[in-house]
Amino acid sequence: MSTSTIERTSYVPRAGAFGNAIGLTCRACGAQQPLGPFYACNECFGPLEVGYEFPSITREQIESGPKSIWRYHALLPVPSDIATIPNTDPGFTRLVKADNLARELGMKSLWVKDDTGNPTHSFKDRVVAVALSAARELGFKVLACPSTGNLANAVAAAAARAGIRSVVFIPDNLEEAKILASAVYGGSLVAVQGNYDDVNKLASEIAGEEPDWAFVNVNVRPYYAEGSKTLAYETAEQLGWRLPEQVVIPVASGSQLTKVDKGFGELVKLGLVDESPYKIFGAQATGCSPVSEAFRNGWDAVKPVKPNTIAKSLAIGNPADGPYVLDTCRRTGGAVSDVSEDEIRDGILLLARTEGIFAETAGGVTVANLKKLLASGQLDPEAETVIFNTGDGLKTLDAISGRVGPTVNIPPTYEAFTQAGIA
Ligand SMILES: *Cc1c(COP(=O)(O)O)cnc(C)c1O
Ligand SMILES: [Zn+2]
Repeated sequence: MSTSTIERTSYVPRAGAFGNAIGLTCRACGAQQPLGPFYACNECFGPLEVGYEFPSITREQIESGPKSIWRYHALLPVPSDIATIPNTDPGFTRLVKADNLARELGMKSLWVKDDTGNPTHSFKDRVVAVALSAARELGFKVLACPSTGNLANAVAAAAARAGIRSVVFIPDNLEEAKILASAVYGGSLVAVQGNYDDVNKLASEIAGEEPDWAFVNVNVRPYYAEGSKTLAYETAEQLGWRLPEQVVIPVASGSQLTKVDKGFGELVKLGLVDESPYKIFGAQATGCSPVSEAFRNGWDAVKPVKPNTIAKSLAIGNPADGPYVLDTCRRTGGAVSDVSEDEIRDGILLLARTEGIFAETAGGVTVANLKKLLASGQLDPEAETVIFNTGDGLKTLDAISGRVGPTVNIPPTYEAFTQAGIA
């Protein structure tokens, strides 16, 4: 073990460095550990989660904060002056009332939480911003990750902004836009000949050998995961401080879905919203649907699969939070479902045509599952529903190439135009 691993293991948090967080709790056995560079339980190797002791927090305090995730700094493992420290400051993205799409689907009230407005155009900026803060505090020198694409974009950008080195690992068959939109920030980009699960395994091995590298979704995962709670906070605040009745969330590792549930629960506990029932639905692509398969069969465990889908950002065959997604969806009365490749493409086009929002394949998965869950009667068309659009269509143009393009191609004459039948 190198010196810096020993130093990091004996890490003692500075007062306030993690805000109101007080420790790490094992999600499997409930054992407690102090805040530090830990991600697996000492007792059972289960995943750790950040625990808090919240003071009373008011809506007014939050509303007077910055228009970013840092308005919720008191609910995150970050210092209270976080907004003054160089970071990407994501969040407070728009919540769009999707009346056209609702009408088309026969729904009463539908909203799209549109995370394409984040600095690198996906929800991953939220988790990385919190992970960067923790990585700095814990003394890591390099920001790293295994990624299905969007995370690599977010890590490379955040590291550039923070003035530290990044090393990101991706499957070498990713969309060109996601490769270039990582490389542009100037860190190291390692394309690996394999799928995400291969990349993830390699990253875990490297994490054990490189004590100064913070793999945001591996060895600082407990802090990283907390960033997803801000989707729940923003949604509730933007609805006028209340919870929606149904939410549809795309599932890759499943971290986002479980933390949105945690976020709603915290708002209720703090008295920031009234307690009201909500159902959480998970959305997958059939070509990578291990959690949906487990849900359908009534299993508690998730059987790993080999992904084969155009929804590459969701292509995790062995999802770390799979069992917790099953728990959350069953406990709230929701479901997990999956859709075909054609349904994904149709979902992208439907959202674009009705609401002017261009989603990546993950958003196509979410819209298509919304439609499917309505048709099967699992989603209530009368209940207020929020769907999460987690990434930008400009990164996955291949998914729709061949499906849309110029309506006509004409010579530059008025005659040709009139003959084309457009007017
Ligand atoms: C990573 C990702 C997700 C899923 O996140 P998990 O927390 O791993 O389930 C959803 N949508 C997009 C666009 C992503 O990049
Ligand atoms: Zn444990």
